[in-house]
Amino acid sequence: MNSSDILIIGAGPGGYETAARARALGQSVTLIERDELGGTCLNRGCIPTKTLCRAAEVARTVASAGLYGISAGVPAVDYAAVSARKDAVVRELRDGVEQVLSGVNIIRGEAVFEDLDRVRVGSDIYTAPRIVVATGSAPAMIPIQGAEYALTSDGALAMTSLPEAVTIIGAGVIGMEFASVFADFGCKVTVVEAAKEILPPFDAEVAKRLRMSMKRRGVEIVTGASVTAITPDGEVLYSAKGKSKTVPPATVIMAVGRRAVIPSGLVEAGVRLTSRGYIETDERMCAARKGSTALYAIGDVNGRCMLAHAAVAQGEVVLGEREVCSPVPSAVFTHPEAAMTGLTEEQCVAQGVDFKVLRATFMANGKARAMGEPEGMVKMIVSESDGGVLGCHIVGPHASDLIAEANLAITSGLPYTAIRASIHPHPTLCEIMRDLH
Ligand code: FAD
Ligand code: AMP
Repeated sequence: MNSSDILIIGAGPGGYETAARARALGQSVTLIERDELGGTCLNRGCIPTKTLCRAAEVARTVASAGLYGISAGVPAVDYAAVSARKDAVVRELRDGVEQVLSGVNIIRGEAVFEDLDRVRVGSDIYTAPRIVVATGSAPAMIPIQGAEYALTSDGALAMTSLPEAVTIIGAGVIGMEFASVFADFGCKVTVVEAAKEILPPFDAEVAKRLRMSMKRRGVEIVTGASVTAITPDGEVLYSAKGKSKTVPPATVIMAVGRRAVIPSGLVEAGVRLTSRGYIETDERMCAARKGSTALYAIGDVNGRCMLAHAAVAQGEVVLGEREVCSPVPSAVFTHPEAAMTGLTEEQCVAQGVDFKVLRATFMANGKARAMGEPEGMVKMIVSESDGGVLGCHIVGPHASDLIAEANLAITSGLPYTAIRASIHPHPTLCEIMRDLH
């Protein structure tokens, strides 16, 4: 039996960051991974998509060069080269992860639970007083006729040539990012979404602005439309307002959410799953105990928040380095970007919170105008009684970076006046955060 202070299963951001931190704290660490280091985030998620987003931005910039007085002609997209650059970035970062894990005992193979306190890889048994399940998630498919003709996000990221037309099922974060990227590369893009608005958890005003902006770029977005079937040639059938409709043949990407990856033997050993199939955890991320062993679940596999930085924060809870895991900022790397943290206006109304909304548009921001990106706005939700920041919602240039300041305010319990009191450099996008009224 192999024993260490902490045993972690899955080397995605939740698992590998927790392993590295535990090692830095002087603990002996075993990390089991059956595939590549870096998990979904590095190999099939955050990083490859953001590499594509950057290539799409370059194509868009070249295509619009005339607006800046530069003649560059129509950009020619060599998608095989775009894809190769993506793979190279992923490879380099993977090497970096290996270095970060120096001193960690990395075991390659599939972890199977023999009991709550015993994990088997091949014929070897591993145990520890703290076992952390960080096995992540995989793409979900809706059980419709012809689902096998659709690519998942994994398949979409593996493409080495550009399709002429793409139909994306699901307007969540992943679906909208693909829509934005393929539109910039000149593909005909259609998005079909069952809900009334895109990006269901986002502030409705931000989501609507993003939808309108993407529509102006030529992306067809059909909401309130439930997909019912896919034909072998990629035609998508859906029903909207009681009528059956179709999207013409295209490469189909299904982006309808993700499901937890549960290690074999875990449920049989007594761990409970939620109704949606995630591992049930308490506020300390603990899923079960047996004798002196505590079993934790962090990251996508517990379904609390399907984001890489949430997985990392939950690992910090397990290590006793953090008490709470909120607020978690969330960003969509579309063009324009969108980002949010804290409560939405709709949540404040539903919870009976006394609030006011402060706003500003990028139209009045000198840097945004200079960049030629004046589209979008910031909307800050502030407590009426003490001015505390409750939430922030941004659509516009670099929204994913700008959200950090509001997130710090909420995390530290700062009022909006603290943001206004802080001198912001000029001319910058972040000045918008002190210009809200
Ligand atoms: P994962 O990253 O899924 O890692 C789990 C690991 O466990 C995997 O390596 C797997 O091989 C391993 N494993 C599973 N079972 C076993 C077993 N039995 N034995 C051994 N190993 C096992 N999040 C963001 O924050 N920002 C983004 O921009 C973003 N973009 C995304 C884009 C896409 C297309 C996708 C799909 C996801 C994106 N995400 C993004 C989400 C992010 O990737 C996940 O939230 C994050 O990877 C979760 O980390 P994790 O450690 O919980 O699990
Ligand atoms: P997310 O869970 O954020 O990845 O988003 C997945 C999106 O897919 C959600 O907005 C769902 O409403 C949407 N969705 C799920 N099933 C269907 C369907 N049959 N047709 C169209 N959209 C769907």
